[in-house]
Amino acid sequence: MRQTKQKETLNNSLKKMDVFFSAEELHQHVPTIGIATIYRFLNKSVKNGELHAYQCNRKFIYSSSKKNHSHFLCEKCAEVKHINLNKLDFLNSQIKGKVCHIQIDITGICEKCS
Ligand SMILES: [Zn+2]
Ligand SMILES: [Zn+2]
Ligand SMILES: [Zn+2]
Repeated sequence: MRQTKQKETLNNSLKKMDVFFSAEELHQHVPTIGIATIYRFLNKSVKNGELHAYQCNRKFIYSSSKKNHSHFLCEKCAEVKHINLNKLDFLNSQIKGKVCHIQIDITGICEKCS
């Protein structure tokens, strides 16, 4: 019963989160639920396909949408910028399995450094 209630609380708070959020940010919305429970909930939701996990600044972030999450990393100053990549549909034909969500990390030299 307690677990069901916690799951309900967590599912409700997901609706209030930004498109991408970390476990810590979710925890801030529901401070009464322990961080270990939050991690368990997030892992389970990813397995169920209810949430999608991305890597951002060496941390996992989560999203209930399949919005692409991509970075541009400068090799000189190590600055990481979030970029919006559109028209990635062509990737579907390059991949034998079924594409769920896309994360692309591009490395180069930023405007400031070039
Ligand atoms: Zn996904
Ligand atoms: Zn990111
Ligand atoms: Zn740079």
